[in-house]
Amino acid sequence: MKQIQKKNEGTRFKRTPQRLAILEYLEGNTSHPSAEDIFRVVSKRYQSMSFATVYNTLNTLTRAGELRELTIDPERKRYDPDTSRHHHLICVLCGKIADIPEKIGVELPKDMAEHFVLLGHHIEFYGHCSSCQKKNKAK
Ligand code: ZN
Ligand code: MN
Repeated sequence: MKQIQKKNEGTRFKRTPQRLAILEYLEGNTSHPSAEDIFRVVSKRYQSMSFATVYNTLNTLTRAGELRELTIDPERKRYDPDTSRHHHLICVLCGKIADIPEKIGVELPKDMAEHFVLLGHHIEFYGHCSSCQKKNKAK
């Protein structure tokens, strides 16, 4: 019995109220939140929600291909409900992440491309966002 349940978990995502709340929060969310961010918001509505539930749900959604896990922030994993191909830019001061459209002209050197089946690429830009620049100037 347990095995069957486990098997189904991979293909069919049980839509419990807690999981639905997480999905709802992520729908159209472009802020690339961390598990902590998501927990902070969703646990306000669902007091019984544990951090483990949030974390496990994010892992399940990532494995199901419904969520993209970003490693651009060295401090914590960030999550993106937009699974289409695109790149990211991060402010190293405040951690804000912005989307960059896929079409940036970067190609693998020809001699490398010949011996490698390329499945995709992801470019990470990092720097200081405009509001952090202003804050630094004001000091
Ligand atoms: Zn910033
Ligand atoms: Mn994104």
